Amino acid sequence: MDTAPILTAETIVWQPDRAPKPVAWPVPEMLTAMRRGFMCTCPACGQTKLFKGYLRVVPVCDTCTAPLGEYRADDAPPYFTIFAVGHIVVPLMFLLNRSIDLPDMVQGAIWVPITAALALGLLRPIKGATVGLMLRLGMTKAGQEPGTE
Ligand SMILES: [Zn+2]
Repeated sequence: MDTAPILTAETIVWQPDRAPKPVAWPVPEMLTAMRRGFMCTCPACGQTKLFKGYLRVVPVCDTCTAPLGEYRADDAPPYFTIFAVGHIVVPLMFLLNRSIDLPDMVQGAIWVPITAALALGLLRPIKGATVGLMLRLGMTKAGQEPGTE
């Protein structure tokens, strides 16, 4: 009668493959990739535009073939934008409110357009920086290697 091999803790330890996967496009340092993305250029090469339209990321960089469309920032850029705009606008609102007593309608007429302009102005660069960060970290769609469709 055969007996099954005895499994010990040593035989079932899983070792993930942590070796970096080689890719066909340049992967710059994190701050370089984020800066290039913030400037709305390709985070990998910095040569071509990152966006086609206001927020749509180009599928592939024409210069370096980085698959930029696979780096889906999803809700992170709006979150970071709201975080940044809130930390700019709210202290300024408190400062103005402490120094001058303005009616609420005037406060609204001042801060609503400033908040909207800051949010719309910062959303695109922050999304670019987020895509740059994701490119550097290799964060593509779940379970997919970058560059494979
Ligand atoms: Zn590129």
